[in-house]
Amino acid sequence: MTDEDLSVSFIRSLCAGEIEQSVLFPYPVIGPAEGETVRAVIDAVDSLLGERGEDFRRWDGAQEMPAEFVQELREFGLFGLIVPEEHGGMGFGNMAYSRSLQQVARYDGSVAVTIGAHSSIGMRGLKLFGTDGQKERYYAKLASGEMIAAFCLTEPEAGSDAASIRTTAVEQDDCFLVNGSKIWVTNGGIADFFTVFAKTGEAEARSKLSAFIVTRDMPGVSVGPHEDKMGLRANPTTAVYLNDVRVPKENLLGPLDGGFKVAMSILNSGRSGLGGGCVGGMKSLIAHAGRHATERRQFGQPIASFGLVKQKIGHMVVDCYAAESAVNLVAALSDQGYEDSSVEAAIVKIFASEALWRSADEALQIAGGGGYMRELPYEMVVRDCRINRIFEGTNEVLRLYVALSALNDVGEGLREMAGTLKGVFDDPIKGFGMLYRYARRRTSWATGLPREKGSLSKVHVALRPQADVFEDLTRGLAAMADRLLRKHGRDIIGKQFATRRMADVMIDLFVLAAVLARVTAAIEGGGAEKAAREIDIARILAGQVKNRATRNFRKIDDNDDELVKGLAEDACERGSYSWDVV
Ligand SMILES: Cc1cc2nc3c(=O)[nH]c(=O)nc-3n(C[C@H](O)[C@H](O)[C@H](O)COP(=O)(O)OP(=O)(O)OC[C@H]3O[C@@H](n4cnc5c(N)ncnc54)[C@H](O)[C@@H]3O)c2cc1C
Repeated sequence: MTDEDLSVSFIRSLCAGEIEQSVLFPYPVIGPAEGETVRAVIDAVDSLLGERGEDFRRWDGAQEMPAEFVQELREFGLFGLIVPEEHGGMGFGNMAYSRSLQQVARYDGSVAVTIGAHSSIGMRGLKLFGTDGQKERYYAKLASGEMIAAFCLTEPEAGSDAASIRTTAVEQDDCFLVNGSKIWVTNGGIADFFTVFAKTGEAEARSKLSAFIVTRDMPGVSVGPHEDKMGLRANPTTAVYLNDVRVPKENLLGPLDGGFKVAMSILNSGRSGLGGGCVGGMKSLIAHAGRHATERRQFGQPIASFGLVKQKIGHMVVDCYAAESAVNLVAALSDQGYEDSSVEAAIVKIFASEALWRSADEALQIAGGGGYMRELPYEMVVRDCRINRIFEGTNEVLRLYVALSALNDVGEGLREMAGTLKGVFDDPIKGFGMLYRYARRRTSWATGLPREKGSLSKVHVALRPQADVFEDLTRGLAAMADRLLRKHGRDIIGKQFATRRMADVMIDLFVLAAVLARVTAAIEGGGAEKAAREIDIARILAGQVKNRATRNFRKIDDNDDELVKGLAEDACERGSYSWDVV
């Protein structure tokens, strides 16, 4: 693959109407050598966690994971998944890591997040930005779990707006003096290695950030009590306090003042881990729901025989396959060295976390009243999985990122075409009319793009109708980007109803593309008959995507956004609902 190939972003190109098939085909698989190690990890996870259901529920109640169990996780090597082999780890790439975390998440969310926060975000900065010296110092201890890692970005006043953190790091002769407090740090209670973000610029609200490696033994580091959480209760989530902590200069992680980029790179790179965890949760829910539906009898027959129960389980299967296809593809993009798959990674986080939430809700419903009882696993899964839509970037903020990154590209492209034509973006409608090349491209969207960029020609012929849907919707997406920019110009940044719709189309199309590529591989590998159920999944998903996208396209100009905003503004102003009947 050339450097140029690796600079492509499938989804950002898609918004300009171009389908970069090289990203999708052949659909990635884990190589044989790594696959063997992953299989061994899966077997180890099954043997360690397989019979622990009662323990997990007890630890959830006690809000504590016993130290002996954490020791077992260490002994099974589960803290070393992404650490290079020469430092005592397994050296997994993102695909293998994501698959391993998936297996852990089949059994318990708290265990998955303990391992995930360590590898996906806690020590990911060291892997991505660490110097040789830093790696030499910490990798082996992190691989063995002698040091457990945590990621410290959020503060009481800085959540989604990470750039507004107040923790400071003031440069002194031999160190940075770090002061501040972090909240809701996953693994905070058991971690010894903290990736901490602090302001290194002037004291004004939004100055530059830098990242630091802070260790528990540094004087001035302390942690608060375990938070009493809705879910993931066995994981010790705590505040982390930093009082005049003298952090040696060699513990600066990445460039000075480059901490915002470090934080975003860590979160982007770790997202296929979270996605893998969600897929694991869905697989477990499908198994539970299927078993329960088969065993539970009402009206003289198993509830599995009822259409409305089948509908739920069938959709859970589609969601799981779709999420798995997209998670695996994004993990592979990072393993293959694609320079920027951050939008795809955000898409995967959104889709997988919402698919898991739907599955948990439906599985609980299939279990009926029993699903509401603590005795069965569903209520705990519902509590555990809710956080996935919030942490590592809320799904709302990630949707804005997905759509605005793509719109920015389209806008940049148009600006380049505009050359020195001043005022195009100030008066988009008038300005755009002047752009001959742009107008020509618009015509090509209407009439069909050049064959090589406008089609999914590598999709198996058995999936041609679904590929047609994808191609049509791609043209629709490009037209949507165009229409939104012409309608709103730069103001698009504040038009969140519209950007959400565009993000939703992008999410759906990326996931559909991943499924079509994966099912193509299944057909080519074993024949259409063997892949019949997977073809069915592609059909169902394409139908769903078509319906949702068509609705979103229609709403660009025909919507009730202003009415909805008015109601919200009213409710916020009054602080209450206005129409009690009595
Ligand atoms: C169990 C748990 C574990 C966590 N683990 C960690 C950890 O290990 N390390 C760490 O650093 N942090 C961690 N967090 C923090 C987590 O990442 C934040 O909660 C998350 O980033 C959201 O920030 P916030 O809670 O302050 O919400 P806010 O940013 O206040 O957002 C509140 C709501 O407003 C919406 N919103 C915000 N801005 C916008 C916008 N511009 N447009 C539209 N909507 C918007 C959000 O989507 C959300 O719905 C954890 C949190 C929890 C609950």
